[in-house]
Formats: sequence, structure tokens, C-alpha cells
Amino acid sequence: MPNSDSSFTRPIADALGRPLRSLRVSVTDRCNLRCHYCMPEDEYVWLQREEILKFEEISELAGIFAALGVNKIRLTGGEPLLRHDLSALIRLLAQKEGIQDLALTTNGVLLRRHAKDLRAAGLQRITVSLDTLRPERFQTLTRSVAHSAVLDGIQAAREAGFNNIKVNAVIMRGFNEDELTDLIQFGRQIGGEIRFIEYMDVGGATRWSLDKVMTRAEMLEALKRRFGAIRPVVDDSDGSAEIRSKAPADEFEFQDGVRFGIISSTSQPFCRSCDRSRLTPDGVWFLCLYASQGIDLKKLLRSGAPHEVIAETIRQAWTERRDRGAEERKLLNARGVLFPVEELRKDPRREMHTRGG
Ligand code: SAM
Ligand code: SF4
Ligand code: SF4
Repeated sequence: MPNSDSSFTRPIADALGRPLRSLRVSVTDRCNLRCHYCMPEDEYVWLQREEILKFEEISELAGIFAALGVNKIRLTGGEPLLRHDLSALIRLLAQKEGIQDLALTTNGVLLRRHAKDLRAAGLQRITVSLDTLRPERFQTLTRSVAHSAVLDGIQAAREAGFNNIKVNAVIMRGFNEDELTDLIQFGRQIGGEIRFIEYMDVGGATRWSLDKVMTRAEMLEALKRRFGAIRPVVDDSDGSAEIRSKAPADEFEFQDGVRFGIISSTSQPFCRSCDRSRLTPDGVWFLCLYASQGIDLKKLLRSGAPHEVIAETIRQAWTERRDRGAEERKLLNARGVLFPVEELRKDPRREMHTRGG
């Protein structure tokens, strides 16, 4: 079981005072869906198999990060359940000292097959991405007919004992903005929490444009019209009564107490409190979702560098970190796609499905 002692390690802080707390580990760049907002192209350049970190290597790096203050790890991708025997990795990570929160983001297609094993291995939380409740719309969005498999996967996760499953739904204007209400009802049915995500101009979103973004303000307005008053969930544990920022989602509540989240990275970015970094399947560490370059930790690891040297590389990079990618994007006058297709092909680590959402 993960260590529950939050004092295990005081995290290092970056140049803006933000702690190194949360690590997203992308375990594969492969995916069994082709979501329009993430992988809209017909062809992709894939990472070479021999470049992909073995579970033992991920575990080794996770241990170094934990010793520097990381206490949350989320496995993502690509589609993480495509990685053979992912539970074996969960088992390794669940035993790491200092890791208090171990979570997975999945598209849910293969969840029925793996939910029980993941639970038994020590996975604590699951987020499933599901943008529509309509099978034909799902097919248009993902180029797959696996809609019922995703619903069944969510059911399997509940049966396996995962409580309060989070469901991520990217809302795109003109596509699924009319499903906010149905998705809220779906969240109620499964005893989970829906988190609406603004369409982001991340690497790989080569069809992105500002007019397709439904903003947090617009979502709240639409939901108020349907369900009545909504109040932000306030965390007054420290007496400051601020809107609870279980970053990256802001949480809200209807009058009946049902909660939902909105991740408003496009219209109201939350870089100032960002404690997240990302590791690609081939071991390159990115300090920001929008960064063009990362730091090759696999190279160090495979060259036999001692842990202290890798830790020092991480420490130095984090203490110099000033990234505020989403806030900088928001300040642009003309906002288009982040990287053109040719640049993504030259360096696939710039893709969302490689560096992990
Ligand atoms: N394949 C898994 C899944 O879909 O849950 C994990 C990886 S996916 C890259 C992680 C998250 O990123 C998903 O919830 C997905 O909806 C989100 N995402 C991908 N592209 C996005 C975009 N352009 N805007 C907002 N969210 C995006
Ligand atoms: Fe969709 Fe996730 Fe695959 Fe991207 S990585 S195409 S969001 S399922
Ligand atoms: Fe953090 Fe970068 Fe995302 Fe801002 S854009 S919240 S700094 S990862």
C-alpha cells in the first residue's frame, strides 16, 4: 500500500513557488480510438518499441520522483490499457514510498477485461473519458464502434469496487454541447462525477479553433438554465473560503448536492497552481503540457547514471521552471493550432497522445 505519511518528502518548488507533486506517466503512445480533438489525422509517427520504458524503468524513475516530493501518479497515454499487463506496473507503483494517490485515465474500451486486476494491484482511482452518450456520435468522434464497451467498462469498474468514478467529457461547440444535461444525469446514475473539459489547443489538436470551444462560463449558463442554481464548492478548511480548486477541475454543486467539475484550461487557465509534469512512454520529462522540448531521463537511466545524478537533473530543471503554457496561449491575439502536422511528425512527443493528457 502507498505510504500515507504526507511528510515523506517536502516537495521541491519551481521558480514560481509551485511544488513538484503530480506526475503523469504516459505508458504508450498507441490508442484504439481516434478522437477528433486528439488524433484526427490518418497517419501517425510512432515511438520505436525499444525506446519505450520497461515497467521496471518507470518504477525506478517514479521512486526518484517520489523522493523529490511527488505523491500523485496518474497513468495515461495513448490508451494505457493497451500496455500488456498494466497491473504489473500498478503493483510496482503501489508499493512506492511516498505515493499516496495512484490513478488511471482510460478511454474505457478495455476496462471490462482489466478492472478487477487493476483494483487488486492497488489502483485507487479511475477516470474514464466519454464525450457522448450517443453511439452514432461516438463513432463519428472516435472512428470506433466501441461505445457500448465503454459503458460496460464503467460498469465493470464499479463492480470491481472503484467508487466515485470520474468521467471526462470534452465539450465541443456544434458537436456535443447539447449533451451537458444528459451527461450530468449519467453521472448521477453511475454515482460518479462528470468533469466537462474545454476543448484545448494542445499538440495534436490539429482541427482546433477558438470558435469550437465552449467555455466554462457558457457551460455554467446552460446548466443553470436547466437545473437552477449552481454554487461553487467552497473549501473553507483553511478559513479562506476560496472556490475549491482540486486542480485542474473546479467543482460545482447543484441544489440537490450533486457535484460536477469543469476543467477550463482554455478560457481560465490555472497555471499559477500547477504542480504537474509528464513523462512520455520513452522517458522524456516535460515540465508543461505545452512545452516543445523535454528532458531525456531515459538516456540518463540507460547510461547507468546513479539515482543522485538523475535526481539532481530533475531538481535543477524544476527549480528553474517558469512554464505557464496555457496562460501564455490565452494572451495570444491570433490563436490557432499549437504545432502544425509536419512538426508533430518530426517530434511525436509533441502529441497529446504521446505526452499524456
Ligand atoms: N486515452 C485515454 C483517455 O482518452 O482517457 C488517456 C489519454 S487522453 C490524451 C487523456 C485526456 O486528454 C482525455 O480525457 C481526453 O479527453 C483529453 N484530451 C485529449 N485531447 C484533448 C483536447 N484537445 N482538449 C481537451 N482535452 C483533451
Ligand atoms: Fe481519444 Fe485518449 Fe486516444 Fe486521445 S489518447 S485519441 S483522447 S482515447
Ligand atoms: Fe501546468 Fe503548463 Fe498546464 Fe499551465 S499549461 S496548467 S503550467 S501543464
